[in-house]
Amino acid sequence: DCLDQFAILKSVFGYDNFRPGQEDVVAGLIAGRDVFAVMPTGSGKSLCYQVPALVRGGLTIVVSPLVALMKDQVSALQLLGVAAASINSSMPREDNVEVWKQVASGAISILYLSPERLMTERMITALQRLDVQMVAVDEAHCISQWGASFRPEYDALQNLKTAFPGIPIGAFTATADHATRDDIIRKIFPRKPDVYIAGFDRPNINLSVERKNNAGKQLLDFLEDRKNESGIVYTLSRKSAEETAKDLVAAGYRALPYHAGLTAEIRADNQNIFMTEKAVIICATIAFGMGIDKPDVRFVFHADLPGSLDAYYQEIGRAGRDGEAADAFMVFGMQDVAMRRRFIAEENGGEDRKRRENRRLDALIAYCDAPDCRRQSLLSYFGEASEPCGNCDCCLDPSASVNGTSDAKLALQTILQTGERYGPAHIVDLLLGEASDKAVNAGHTQLATFGQGKQRKRQAWSDILRQMQGGGVLLLDVAGHGGLSITAKGRAIMQGEQEFFHRASKQSHKQQKLKAAAPASNPQSEDLLARLKKLRFSLARQRKAPAYVIFSDRTLIDMANKMPLTTMDFAEVHGVGAAKLEQFAKPFLQEIGEFVASQ
Ligand code: ADP
Ligand code: ZN
Repeated sequence: DCLDQFAILKSVFGYDNFRPGQEDVVAGLIAGRDVFAVMPTGSGKSLCYQVPALVRGGLTIVVSPLVALMKDQVSALQLLGVAAASINSSMPREDNVEVWKQVASGAISILYLSPERLMTERMITALQRLDVQMVAVDEAHCISQWGASFRPEYDALQNLKTAFPGIPIGAFTATADHATRDDIIRKIFPRKPDVYIAGFDRPNINLSVERKNNAGKQLLDFLEDRKNESGIVYTLSRKSAEETAKDLVAAGYRALPYHAGLTAEIRADNQNIFMTEKAVIICATIAFGMGIDKPDVRFVFHADLPGSLDAYYQEIGRAGRDGEAADAFMVFGMQDVAMRRRFIAEENGGEDRKRRENRRLDALIAYCDAPDCRRQSLLSYFGEASEPCGNCDCCLDPSASVNGTSDAKLALQTILQTGERYGPAHIVDLLLGEASDKAVNAGHTQLATFGQGKQRKRQAWSDILRQMQGGGVLLLDVAGHGGLSITAKGRAIMQGEQEFFHRASKQSHKQQKLKAAAPASNPQSEDLLARLKKLRFSLARQRKAPAYVIFSDRTLIDMANKMPLTTMDFAEVHGVGAAKLEQFAKPFLQEIGEFVASQ
């Protein structure tokens, strides 16, 4: 039994490789470290504690909130020949006693328990006598009252850290926001754990967001060249789910509604048709989607603002499970935002909760306003760093992006000088030079940057600050008082190591667009661009990968304009990092060299 994790992975689970993100978590737990892992649903979290459980030997306790989930996991493990069991409230007492006897005799490797079963004094005392080697807490966000799925039974898990001293604890969740994560870490772990966040990227899903003017028409336009595809249209209300389905049927599509107002029968029927037939569009409220595992959903269209960035991620994640290209398209209206704010205000619940819900909404808006790459903005919300993706509307239409580095620096200085504690409204006051009571009392009217942003309107500064959040330059403290702090990226901008681009407001966007209509501005670079695209296509085909994986259009355009002839120049092209340089500099430099020679 001294098989390592790779041998266990192969011999017990039958897999050849760990997925990205799994390996580090597994290694950490095996080495006896505490690990907090944030990974999306379906990415293989369970394996992250099951493999270490078998490598470490002895008994691993897994805390899981739902009896149904526990049962599934236990039977799956038993089928693989793993000695797994659970003690839960749905089983007859005799069965639970029988399982306990096996546990006590050392015959069980992985024991699943609900938090209320585990955290009784009797159970803890009994387990302390056994060879407990690890504790894993699944769905760890249930411990946080910030989150929507708080479970009071999870609260007792705060005592875990003293119950099994020296034994590694793993906690797992798919939930993203910082407040929830910090809360989990504070409550579950005796000291700072290793934190791993990974696997959120779904590169085959194209991300686009458009301002809403007429959602119905925008949807029809979107569907125009997707006549034979299956997809989901999400709306906020049952009524608009119904109406959207009717409109689509009238326009010749096969569309069906799905929401909690329909009978269970109709819902089951509609879901069934969607799952089994081709080219069906489901018009749904959020009631639809749990457990939908249809591989060839080609698009998810949000006709209304989703509930949160987490919800959005879950919803678009239903597209493109087969790995083929898919689209996530959202229309985003300021009216939706106003309505959402009103919902929050009218909801019962303390001020604290309302403030947090408003911050969540801010994060969503920041994504809709993403200045540079939408995927970078989404992944940065989940804590994952990434390169510009080449597969979102911002990357594909960089003309809408303007260089706002000097504005950003001004805002960053103001935030830094005021101690990174104030919210956007106050920072904007200072930039505009408004001597509010707050500013006077804090002595902020004396700052060097006070009034330095007068040439812009309040709205413009608010937009810029929001987009700096979307771009991962600023972090809004969701749990606390809503102060803005500066990220590593923000510091790099202050030091002049990085630039800040943002989406211009509608009007200047148009002007920009006119100017930049032909991105490769002279005929010569136009020709080169065509050749570079051809090369990209053939490289992609060789690798059986989509073209954007090689380079984005934006990168090719920049390359055509800069015409680099040396590796050093090539590294200066937008979107060329070390890895891409290594892999692709040679063929592209050769192409450019031949082009230049032929001119
Ligand atoms: P999560 O708990 O994150 O929602 P699961 O643990 O249920 O996800 O895993 C989702 C699916 O992925 C399961 O069918 C699992 O067997 C599979 N899986 C997990 N890890 C691997 C791997 N390394 N290689 C192949 N398949 C894997
Ligand atoms: Zn992008």
